[in-house]
Amino acid sequence: MIHSATKYLAGHSDVIAGAVVAKDPEIAARIKYIQNATGAVLGPFDCWLTIRGIETLELRLQRQSENALAVAQWLESREEVERVYFPGLQSHPNHLLAAKQQSFFGGVVSFVIKNGDEQAATNFVTSTKLFKLAESLGGVKSLLCHPATMTHKSTPVDVRRNAGVVDALIRLSCGIENADDLIEDLQQAFEQINEKVSNPVITTWK
Ligand SMILES: *Cc1c(COP(=O)(O)O)cnc(C)c1O
Repeated sequence: MIHSATKYLAGHSDVIAGAVVAKDPEIAARIKYIQNATGAVLGPFDCWLTIRGIETLELRLQRQSENALAVAQWLESREEVERVYFPGLQSHPNHLLAAKQQSFFGGVVSFVIKNGDEQAATNFVTSTKLFKLAESLGGVKSLLCHPATMTHKSTPVDVRRNAGVVDALIRLSCGIENADDLIEDLQQAFEQINEKVSNPVITTWK
């Protein structure tokens, strides 16, 4: 099993680490040999940060999931939003499967700005104050990113759009802040981008 410790496990966006876990002692010995031979060894401070992070994993995930659900439900009620992706929403096609498989739905929420283009998305991601613009996810502080020009910039445009990563898609990673503060931040970002276009959002973004 391969885990990224960079995201939820360490949880504070200050470590790049991962774990390969094997049950079979023979496979474990081979992995250990490769790790030793290639020198892929984590520094002591990163190990310590990761261990300390794991101590609060459940608390953080619980709060991040609650925040993400509140944000996702709020986004679903907004007229500027065309679609919200979050497995904790009843409207998600795999909600029941996710509910069966997971104790938490996680902190990541994506949404598409209605009639939005790349400029609308860029305006939005540069208008939030609490949600910081960065590619990572899973940390205690909320982040947001514009996949089309960031994480998926090198994906061919047609492949990217066919996969649902459209120009007006925005990805949020909810942290452990107060949910009302997060929603207020998104609300003021919508207000800012509404002001940036001369007419109301829905008729202007083509
Ligand atoms: C996830 C991530 C990494 C590396 O993560 P691993 O899962 O540990 O490989 C590096 N930089 C950013 C911005 C990331 O989001």
